[in-house]
Amino acid sequence: MKMNVGLTLRAAKGCWRLNLSQQCAHGSIGLFVPPSPPVDPEKVKELQRFVSLSKRLLVMTGAGVSTESGIPDYRSEKVGLYARTDRRPIQHRDFVQRAPVRQRYWARNFVGWPRFSSHQPNPAHWALSSWERLGKLYWLVTQNVDALHTKAGSQRLTELHGCMHRVLCLACGEQTPRGVLQERFEALNPTWRAEAHGLAPDGDVFLTEEQVQSFRVPSCARCGGPLKPDVVFFGDTVSPDKVDFVHRRVKEADSLLVVGSSLQVYSGYRFILTAREKKLPIAILNIGPTRSDHLACLKLDSRCGELLPLIDPQ
Ligand SMILES: [Zn+2]
Repeated sequence: MKMNVGLTLRAAKGCWRLNLSQQCAHGSIGLFVPPSPPVDPEKVKELQRFVSLSKRLLVMTGAGVSTESGIPDYRSEKVGLYARTDRRPIQHRDFVQRAPVRQRYWARNFVGWPRFSSHQPNPAHWALSSWERLGKLYWLVTQNVDALHTKAGSQRLTELHGCMHRVLCLACGEQTPRGVLQERFEALNPTWRAEAHGLAPDGDVFLTEEQVQSFRVPSCARCGGPLKPDVVFFGDTVSPDKVDFVHRRVKEADSLLVVGSSLQVYSGYRFILTAREKKLPIAILNIGPTRSDHLACLKLDSRCGELLPLIDPQ
């Protein structure tokens, strides 16, 4: 069932206004989750055995864990952003070197932020945070930048590609909350208005050139430097310290469960290789094939939010 959801926001003072119209299906979730076969009880038993046998379980999550929260991924067949549009993600070098690129990025991000930041964890996020609370989960590594694991209460967590809820100054390195920047955008753009069409995984939306060019972007309140979301854009690399940290956690773990990732990006895939070197058992829960299916002792093609709550972490 498809329906149009129109969202209108008004500032308390001034008159900037956003109309965010989005094609939605069942609260927009069905639109972004690829079709999957019904849950296979035998496979559930196998995953239960895998989890029960593990004493130091490392879980790595990707975009597939958040699609059930209404956030589209880039790569899923037919429903991912690559399949649905001709949009491609922002490149790190373009963002850092070109002010007009930053202006376009932030204008779109400003429009998408109220919706992107309001997404809530789904049963898969809640299950993983309960596994941590019960001592089952040794460490959680996510490739996502949506803060949904944090919202669900996970703490033993590495956000491999950063988080959209933080902003970084490219000159002095100061980190500030993204919500504060939203208020600065509103103050600088009291009469700016835009109609947005569609939301990308990183909170980006689609705007015209004219809308972009009239949007004013604030700089760092401390040093005047350019601001960037604290995330790893395409073409950038994860910091070596963070990579080392995760490699150590993988080496300390006794098994690895991949949840909702096709493992196409090397920054996540390399940890699979480390797990393989250490001969850790690997299980993969992802709708559709992944780069590491041949390395896994168990592969499940199910919705993360449907399957993980079925597993008893005790
Ligand atoms: Zn600064």
